Amino acid sequence: MLKKYFPYKKGLFVKAVDGINLEIFPGETLGLVGESGSGKSTVAYTVVGMYAPTEGKIIYKGQDISFPSKFRPHEMKGRIRIVFQDPNSSLNPRRTIRQILSIPLKLHKNNSNGEFPSSPEALLEEVGISPTYVHRFSRSLSGGERQLVAIAHALATDPDLVLLDEPTSALDVSIQAKVINRLVDLQERHRLSYLFITHDLSLMRNVAHRVAIMYLGKMCEIAKTREFFENPLHPYTQMLLSSIPVVTGEEEQLKPKKITSRGEIPSPVNIPPGCSFNLRCPFAMDKCKEVDPEMKEFEAEHHVRCHLY
Ligand code: SF4
Repeated sequence: MLKKYFPYKKGLFVKAVDGINLEIFPGETLGLVGESGSGKSTVAYTVVGMYAPTEGKIIYKGQDISFPSKFRPHEMKGRIRIVFQDPNSSLNPRRTIRQILSIPLKLHKNNSNGEFPSSPEALLEEVGISPTYVHRFSRSLSGGERQLVAIAHALATDPDLVLLDEPTSALDVSIQAKVINRLVDLQERHRLSYLFITHDLSLMRNVAHRVAIMYLGKMCEIAKTREFFENPLHPYTQMLLSSIPVVTGEEEQLKPKKITSRGEIPSPVNIPPGCSFNLRCPFAMDKCKEVDPEMKEFEAEHHVRCHLY
């Protein structure tokens, strides 16, 4: 069970990730969905090695890599990459695109499986950008182009797993579709695995193979995408689904009955005892205030953490 706590005040911790268990398969997109403060980005930063876990292990192809990236074995470097919401996090505005892409290409050339192109021009073509852009600076590109270059930067090390941290949420809707389509295309051609972190549950319907929901550092529910949208079990999942805007009457009928939650999300420093959703859940029972439910398999490959099941 992976945990990541941050010290807050004397004796107090922010429990950003408080015991989650996830497996990501080759060629799969796992959508990790939650509101702001749910801990979903902390999961990604811990998996990529920006943080060391407080407890629990990260296992990559059978090897324990539960430490910051600089202490990971050399052959692991570049195998797991991250794309941030803001592409400027990985693109230095004072360097040309060629310089930006050349750094990971050089650092990881001996680690590559030969799956991805090994020149900046070919990498740009791979993500759908003209190779002539190698001479340009990132600040001269549009938001969508910058994000595609950031994706090329992540792919330059020939990774197996790419952590996508809200990669399209800062883009216009029309550009979002272009970036998502390119990600899907790259996955199909190179059998990439994605951990797709988002607050936009509706986006996952057409992108993810499985969907997991996080709330206050814990996972509430995980299932294959179709099953997840057709048979949501956890009250929090139902609440999120019932608040997705729809266009047609048919879509409205497919939505779970409107669930209205009470109150606000508690602070991750002061998580209530029992089920962490109990202060907001319309179905909360006495037991929910005392006993934290365990994750259970309700149906094949559909797990939920709730006393109702
Ligand atoms: Fe609601 Fe109780 Fe289930 Fe938590 S365990 S989601 S409070 S019914």
